[in-house]
Amino acid sequence: MRRAIRFLGTKELNFVSGIRQDGRGSPFDNFEPATWTRLSQARNSNASDVAQAVESASGACTTTSWSTTSGRERAKILRNAAQLIRRRVEEIAELETRDCGKPLWESKGDVEASADCIEYFAGLAPSIHGEHIHQLDGGGSFAYTRREPLGLCAGIGPWNYPFQTACWKVAPALACGNAFVYKPSPLAPLSAVLLAEIFVDAGLPPGIFNVVQGDGETGRLLASHEGVAKISFTGSVPTGKTVMATASGSVKPVTLELGGKSPMIVFEDADLDNAVSGAMMANFLSQGQVCSNGTRVFVHRKIKDAFVSKLVPRVASLRVGHPMKEDTQVGALISPDHAAKVLKYIESAKDEGGHLLCGGEALRPPDTANGAYISPAIVDGCNDSMQAVKEEVFGPVLFLLDFENEEEVIHRANDTVYGLAAGIFTRDVTRAHRVIASLQAGMCWINNFNVQPPELPFGGYKQSGVGRENGTVALDHYSQLKTVYVEMGDVKSPF
Ligand code: NAD
Repeated sequence: MRRAIRFLGTKELNFVSGIRQDGRGSPFDNFEPATWTRLSQARNSNASDVAQAVESASGACTTTSWSTTSGRERAKILRNAAQLIRRRVEEIAELETRDCGKPLWESKGDVEASADCIEYFAGLAPSIHGEHIHQLDGGGSFAYTRREPLGLCAGIGPWNYPFQTACWKVAPALACGNAFVYKPSPLAPLSAVLLAEIFVDAGLPPGIFNVVQGDGETGRLLASHEGVAKISFTGSVPTGKTVMATASGSVKPVTLELGGKSPMIVFEDADLDNAVSGAMMANFLSQGQVCSNGTRVFVHRKIKDAFVSKLVPRVASLRVGHPMKEDTQVGALISPDHAAKVLKYIESAKDEGGHLLCGGEALRPPDTANGAYISPAIVDGCNDSMQAVKEEVFGPVLFLLDFENEEEVIHRANDTVYGLAAGIFTRDVTRAHRVIASLQAGMCWINNFNVQPPELPFGGYKQSGVGRENGTVALDHYSQLKTVYVEMGDVKSPF
């Protein structure tokens, strides 16, 4: 069996035509967040690397007839890939944890969820079809639509869910019969290469799924390439805007999964223990580096003290440590630079009147050398105009806000340029659906937070994104509709 661990210290991290190779641009180092020591070295992919990956994918599409292979055949390969991933969960999870710093138990869950996603799209692949529109006139003319692949799609990913993000993009793209070129984040470049190898092992023709490593310039080359039919991007709002502008040069459709500053609302009738668990789910997975996190926790004034008295001891007792240790609950932030940014946000919140109920300090757990760790923080005394309450912090920091009534909290929850997610806790079923209908967010939870099985469409309102990933709707984003009119009589021409 291939061992993922052989990726460590190696250089050939592009995967083109089924072969690992080095890019031809400048070299870059990839660090292990746990200790901030070098994990691997790669090269940025330059214009000729990107062109080679695009040509390889386009060529493979033609020579292997991938786009016209039956949905059932594509499903078999996707299912094989999911099975291979399941057999190698431990190994992939170890690679992922070493690459992005989240605790091993979380990486295992991400890898399992990635297999679920591939299996889900395998299940849909044979059912991708158009429709028949009959009896368009008295003569029996009719029409039908064909749902066809786009051709070569490209994905650009962030560092917080490296394996899962790649799967969310590649699985629906392949199910629809597209080829794919993926560029992972240079901060977590490894598991995408392993995924591409697994797909070849599963029977995917070499070249149909290629990986190019690199920074923003490599991403720009992909987004602007005439041979790329679509870009699916996950990352920050500013980069998403740039990608959208670049893609517009060749009128490529884009899917953008961007950042957020999501609200979680706890009403006075909520089950408090569940609401506290929800607030922790909404804030401390992946060291708080989750796009959909509900970092603005609005709690009804009547129950705020009770909520806080349950929340604080649970957050304060979270075990922060080396992510490879079995008992670690919160691991390392992606980089010391990012941790410094998070700590600065905490300082700014304090300067603007907030105070820490727990955490918020840089830690040095055993055996972590120069890794960046922050104790999970709760900031109280917040108001809506504080910088840290308005902007995406992307760290283990929960901001507490209180409210008086429903109308007020809906208005405040929506008062943001973002609209990725929202969650509410209440026992009142009528209120639950009324409030959810008023929230400007693409992914909402009632009495839970950050649960995301592949059946559910995921994506943002407002500046949090364009399009959806997962769910059957993802297939629309990786295919195009051809309408065919069939004349059964004579042409009635006015000329
Ligand atoms: P980022 O925007 O800095 O980078 C994302 C990717 O874009 C990287 O691969 C990067 O190399 C590439 N890139 C940079 N400049 C580019 C350019 N000009 N053209 C093309 N590609 C370019 O984001 P990040 O720091 O890696 O990730 C964190 C951000 O991602 C957060 O804002 C988070 O909310 C967001 N995110 C969103 C989702 C979602 O599903 N909505 C999921 C995970 C992360």
